[in-house]
Amino acid sequence: MTEKLRILSGIRPTGPLHLGNLYGALKNWVKLQDQYQCFYFIADWHALTTEFENTGIIKPSGKDIITDWLATGIDPERSVLFIQSEVKEHAELSLLLGMLVTVSRLERMPSYKDFQIATGRELSNFGFLGYPVLQSADILMYRAHGVPVGEDQVPHIELTREIARRFNGLYREVFPEPKPILTEAPRVPGTDGRKMSKSYQNAIFLSDPSPVIEHKIKTMITDPARKRRKDPGDPQKCPVWDFHKIYSDEDTRNWVTQGCASAGIGCLDCKGAFIPKVIAELEPIRDLRRYFDEHPGEVLEIIQDGCGRARSFAVETMKMVREAMKI
Ligand code: SF4
Repeated sequence: MTEKLRILSGIRPTGPLHLGNLYGALKNWVKLQDQYQCFYFIADWHALTTEFENTGIIKPSGKDIITDWLATGIDPERSVLFIQSEVKEHAELSLLLGMLVTVSRLERMPSYKDFQIATGRELSNFGFLGYPVLQSADILMYRAHGVPVGEDQVPHIELTREIARRFNGLYREVFPEPKPILTEAPRVPGTDGRKMSKSYQNAIFLSDPSPVIEHKIKTMITDPARKRRKDPGDPQKCPVWDFHKIYSDEDTRNWVTQGCASAGIGCLDCKGAFIPKVIAELEPIRDLRRYFDEHPGEVLEIIQDGCGRARSFAVETMKMVREAMKI
């Protein structure tokens, strides 16, 4: 039997998962398990690079996220679920790979500036500048062939490929050059119309009770032209339309397009057409989550097992790395 190709992906534990994560990553991760040997990890050291003043959230959030993974169908038998800081070899590999990257290369990474612009935070800590190297270490540690990412993360995979090439050329062939596996994900806007994100406080969380989901959607921003019920609107200018693209059939979408443009329907009618579908999708996830919350020992065992499997792989890689570097 041929060995499956390996992929790796992670999430920073800075809060609970939301609908944007479900469509942007998790649904895809579940599918990828059929095709690849998957390593999914909690990137807690990455969270530290920006949350070093607010570390209290990181540990509970990591366990919480793994519970969400299990509830959405990530299978711990097939995939390795682990916590980055439980595999200390990531720090060693990151340090070694750091010798192969220039500071100016890191300063040119688009995410370095983008994050500061998006959040208004001036981060000049060394950990934040160097996090793409740590990310490369995460990927190369499992000699991953692919990394499922959104378009914005492609430059990071390119840097990882450069580092792998540099290492293999200087010392010995150890690392495959990982390819980005681009995921086609629908846009999931937050309640304020911006991209759904826990840092914008506009998210519908996977753990939100049904009345909360309903309230969040009912109060969600719409086309600003529809100030009053009788004002016509345009679904293309309304973030609610993105939800119809995900949840509604063609007839409903036609009903919205005509009803919105003619002011024949109100925004609450429009939202009411898909609210039950969002609730129906999240309800079984929440039920399964409740099961795991009631059985914390099971989750702990899954995490310990995953960390152990990741560690064994990492020990093997580091042996190859040290031999290649003659250290
Ligand atoms: S009717 Fe629907 S698409 Fe039109 S503005 Fe209201 S919520 Fe948006």
